[in-house]
Amino acid sequence: MTRASEKARQALIGRRDALLRPQRSGRSNSAGHAEVDRNLATLRELEQTELAELAEIDAALSRIDAGRWGLCAGCGHAIGRQRLLAVPEARLCPACQEQEETVD
Ligand SMILES: [Zn+2]
Repeated sequence: MTRASEKARQALIGRRDALLRPQRSGRSNSAGHAEVDRNLATLRELEQTELAELAEIDAALSRIDAGRWGLCAGCGHAIGRQRLLAVPEARLCPACQEQEETVD
């Protein structure tokens, strides 16, 4: 386990804990009906995003355990230190990421 991957693991676990922690105490009960509906929609959308993020985080953690963290899933090359510092759960190098995003 390298120091970089150990640091990334800590960051990922911290993010995962923050995502899983029961939170979002309701702000006020005085919201009108329409606003409640909108809040529910926002919450659902948020949950989708968070579930996707959790999946990415878990995948990254298992890559760390397998010793494959930091390697691009597309081309197999190193993803790059800068990118990994910013996005520890990154699965693809910037070039492959760009390609994937332009596919559809
Ligand atoms: Zn790549």
